[in-house]
Amino acid sequence: MSIRSNIQEIEYRIAKAASMAGRSRDEIKLVGVTKTVGIETIKEAIEAGINVIGENRVQEMEEKYGKLLDYPLEWHLIGHLQSNKVKYIVDKVDLIHSIDRMSVVEEIEKRAAGIDRRVDVLLQVNVSGEETKFGIPPEKLMGFIDRARQCKFMNIKGLMTIAPYTEDPETVRPVFRKLHEIFMELKEKKLDGVSMEYLSMGMTGDFEVAIEEGANIVRIGSGIFGERKL
Ligand SMILES: *Cc1c(COP(=O)(O)O)cnc(C)c1O
Repeated sequence: MSIRSNIQEIEYRIAKAASMAGRSRDEIKLVGVTKTVGIETIKEAIEAGINVIGENRVQEMEEKYGKLLDYPLEWHLIGHLQSNKVKYIVDKVDLIHSIDRMSVVEEIEKRAAGIDRRVDVLLQVNVSGEETKFGIPPEKLMGFIDRARQCKFMNIKGLMTIAPYTEDPETVRPVFRKLHEIFMELKEKKLDGVSMEYLSMGMTGDFEVAIEEGANIVRIGSGIFGERKL
């Protein structure tokens, strides 16, 4: 299968899941997850319509960013972020999906203020409670937001989760449903410094269920680029 036909297939499935849920395809952002994928292959995906790039490592994102300056892309950091790496991407990244600790929030605020740029972020929530997952436990989310939303140079734009790996996406539907509930509750609160615009959930194995449960950002890697060793 070519990259182009993979993307067409994913596009078809996104549109179908959206329409099943009575939603419009246009409200869903497709992030092409390019971790471990080479530049030429990424260019193929861009030619085939991918315009949002998701990387999970700061150094890899920084390298690829430098090589793809000619393309009008959105750059999303989707993987775990350490405070000492913030400085390398604060001037490049369009959306950080993976905020889960105050030390990173403080570093972003400091670095973003330094270059007078406002950085958009999502808070990663560990809905399933899996110990191996990064993310803020749901019961700690409100306290976290109350501190983080004081930042002048960081905009909280929504929530993200990674569901447990499963063969049968139906088993993770409750995870997505729960995050959507939290998302809607927060949206209604209309807190200063918080705008619940984006709900990032769903990967190759479970994005249709995520869309049915309200996701408006899906992060697709292997569905576009094929399975690869990490
Ligand atoms: C790798 C990765 C994805 C994409 O996973 P696929 O199953 O290959 O689609 C999505 N989100 C995060 C955070 C990832 O690290």
